[in-house]
Amino acid sequence: MSAGQVTRQVGDFTVTAVSDGVLYTTHDVVLGVDKDDSARLTGVPYGQQLPLDVNSFLIRHRGKLILSDAGSGHTMQPTLGKLPQNLRAIGADPAAIDIVMLTHLHSDHSLGLVDREGRAVFPNAELMVHEVEAAFWLDRTPQDNDSERITRNSKAQRTVTAPYRDRIRRIKDGEVLPGITATMRPGHTPGHTNWLIESGGERILIWGDIVHLASVQLARPEARLIYDVDTDLAAATRAKVLDWVADERLTVAGAHIGFPGFGRVTRSGDRFAIEPA
Ligand SMILES: [Zn+2]
Repeated sequence: MSAGQVTRQVGDFTVTAVSDGVLYTTHDVVLGVDKDDSARLTGVPYGQQLPLDVNSFLIRHRGKLILSDAGSGHTMQPTLGKLPQNLRAIGADPAAIDIVMLTHLHSDHSLGLVDREGRAVFPNAELMVHEVEAAFWLDRTPQDNDSERITRNSKAQRTVTAPYRDRIRRIKDGEVLPGITATMRPGHTPGHTNWLIESGGERILIWGDIVHLASVQLARPEARLIYDVDTDLAAATRAKVLDWVADERLTVAGAHIGFPGFGRVTRSGDRFAIEPA
């Protein structure tokens, strides 16, 4: 997939969408939408596999290489884990990445931190993750009433961040790098974070998983996702962010917006749509 890389200039930042591959999922990951509606919105018959783009974003800024999200690695599906080779294809060796910013600690965003042998794929990078996200998945004492999904993910996140233990920067909301502001957008995970890049009067929002199955969750923002840690909060956050980006006509960069690259959100009533920006 070296072809089809999409790049945007945001002042003196150069932001490039870099594919990690395609995740195959099912209609059943979204809750609260009936089968016919889901089939119509996605264009894929109910019961068939849904292909979902998984994108990371490479940010070049004044000689620094910053990566937003680390991809899925080799353990999820054979169609994933393409991020390192796609980075090399655009001249960004994983060893040259200075900072990996993680929107949140879920498999398709973080398992790519390590290779098959468990070694750091980004051996010279500092990890940046919201302190609330790190506290929930990495630092918290497991609770008896944790769901199986939370227990399993917590274990996986501790494993893939272990080689980076001494260089994890737990950030708070606010400017985390010159021109990059973090805002916690919780629900999907407790410390799910959006990165706003601003330079030269231009802006772009890297919004992580504000939508996961874009074709359904933009048209039905109230639709929950089985992976949301707090489904109600995720839906409220989604509604708020969609309103804001539509009002502001902000260009958004998402891990799963339905196409590689950057989008512009439009609203009609309480429904939204996205088109390539
Ligand atoms: Zn995701």
